[in-house]
Amino acid sequence: MPRRVRCSFCGAEIEPGTGIMYVKNDGTILWFCSSKCFKSYKMRRDPKKLPWTAKYHELMQQRKRKKARRGAR
Ligand SMILES: [Zn+2]
Repeated sequence: MPRRVRCSFCGAEIEPGTGIMYVKNDGTILWFCSSKCFKSYKMRRDPKKLPWTAKYHELMQQRKRKKARRGAR
């Protein structure tokens, strides 16, 4: 049974048999769903600043929650 992994950059689930597995010199394994994500990683783009990544939406939700908490006080 192939293991389902998530893209290290955008957070999308990768179909088994597709995507790019990238191993750094220190041994950490990174998965990329597309060349778009791989290139963005190589360009050292911040996934938190790109609206098409899951990390961006996580951050936005966290900010929303913080704002809501502040508003309740
Ligand atoms: Zn991706």
